[in-house]
Amino acid sequence: MTSRHMPGRSRPGTAILLAAAILFAGVAAESKAAKVSAESESTARQLIEQGLKDDLAMNLIESLTTEVGPRLAGSEADARAVQWAVRKYRELGFDKVWTEPVTFRNWERRSEGAEVLGEHRQKLVVTALGGSPGGTVEAEIVRFGSVDELRAAPAGSLSGKIAFVDTVMGRYKDMTGYNGVGSARSQGPSVASQKGAVGYLMRTVGTNYSRVANTGMTSFGEGVQPIPAAAVALPDADQLDRLLKKGPVRVRLALDCGWGGEVTSYNVIAEITGSKTPREWILLGGHLDSWDMGTGAVDDASGIGITAAAAKMIASLPVRPKRSIRVVAFANEERGLIGARQYAVAHAADVAKHVLALESDSGSGRLYAFNYSSAAEGGPFLESMKNLMGTLGIEHAGGAGGPGPDVVPMAGKGAAWAWFGQDMTRYFDLHHTADDTFDKVDRQAIRQNVAAFAALAYMAAQYDGSFGSAKK
Ligand SMILES: [Zn+2]
Repeated sequence: MTSRHMPGRSRPGTAILLAAAILFAGVAAESKAAKVSAESESTARQLIEQGLKDDLAMNLIESLTTEVGPRLAGSEADARAVQWAVRKYRELGFDKVWTEPVTFRNWERRSEGAEVLGEHRQKLVVTALGGSPGGTVEAEIVRFGSVDELRAAPAGSLSGKIAFVDTVMGRYKDMTGYNGVGSARSQGPSVASQKGAVGYLMRTVGTNYSRVANTGMTSFGEGVQPIPAAAVALPDADQLDRLLKKGPVRVRLALDCGWGGEVTSYNVIAEITGSKTPREWILLGGHLDSWDMGTGAVDDASGIGITAAAAKMIASLPVRPKRSIRVVAFANEERGLIGARQYAVAHAADVAKHVLALESDSGSGRLYAFNYSSAAEGGPFLESMKNLMGTLGIEHAGGAGGPGPDVVPMAGKGAAWAWFGQDMTRYFDLHHTADDTFDKVDRQAIRQNVAAFAALAYMAAQYDGSFGSAKK
């Protein structure tokens, strides 16, 4: 997932509560008639049982990360990933499989390095931030404890210097740690440039005390001079801190990376056609692209595997569900939800028909909570979900969650979303690093994810009621 569009905890404001109350009044009559049949619930229980033994997701994750490997959006490998997804979805026997083009500017990493100069000369482990320009700079570093401290620096005070933002990220089960430091990556370089800095270094946004650094997007404000920007591995950031206590530290930062021309990739879409209302969809999303250093196993081959395997189990039932299930492998999530934004534009007329949208993009940990945008309504669907998810150790967390990154653009247009809270305690050891590889994927947790995704998608496809999707 990206830093700028993460699912955070959302607390409804007064205006939303008011709107929900009005909506509730309108939906109440419909909800009375809406029901969950015992037959559907029993099928969902079967899907859960089957999901807990499922190895299709693991096989898909292994295949994508092994046969395609790293797949930076716009790269040759990204094109192979698209072919991989089309082939796999066809092999799985979905009713329809197609692609939709997604265009964006290319960004490439070619080489990167940094070293301390002078008496204590030594190499540092760094990685360029996505969106950084290339270039070699040699300058003294100036340390800041946070982006806010950097913001408070006087104008021009960093002239000819490299800014070093050194905020420590905490380890949490959810997004708390990431949310606390994300601005160091997304905004820090732009702020530093405005203060006159010629380069930017930051303590990596991660929790892994190995010599790996986490990449991820940054962007420069309108009219701001882009400067080379990189993340420093945790042990190397500590090293800089110790060296700074001994005196001024000069660093050479050399990045060969940058933006190129426009390229086209594809959202890959597969569908199980509904038996009663085929033009109503339950959307299950993940993203096909990854950063370029690891093989994108937890981010987000896991999501691709989980959603395809969940849908495949539903496709294997003797009877098609009432609504259609749509699996989307989104293009270029990492550089700003590009595939998801273009999907939302292409399908804007069908927002109300996207009955419920759900993404898997938080790694390969166990799920522990669920919620959906209209869960406050309560009613038979929520009661049924509480029972089903309870068997998987997943509790309803009212008021928690939000749309997954690739669901954000459709949710912005009015589509209802569902959310699973996934244990991310170890996620930021791997996220956007060279260590995001297949051996880190937790087989048992993936099975639990598949079971939950299949049950939720199936129940939503069978449910007579609405989740409130309506064009805004
Ligand atoms: Zn992701």
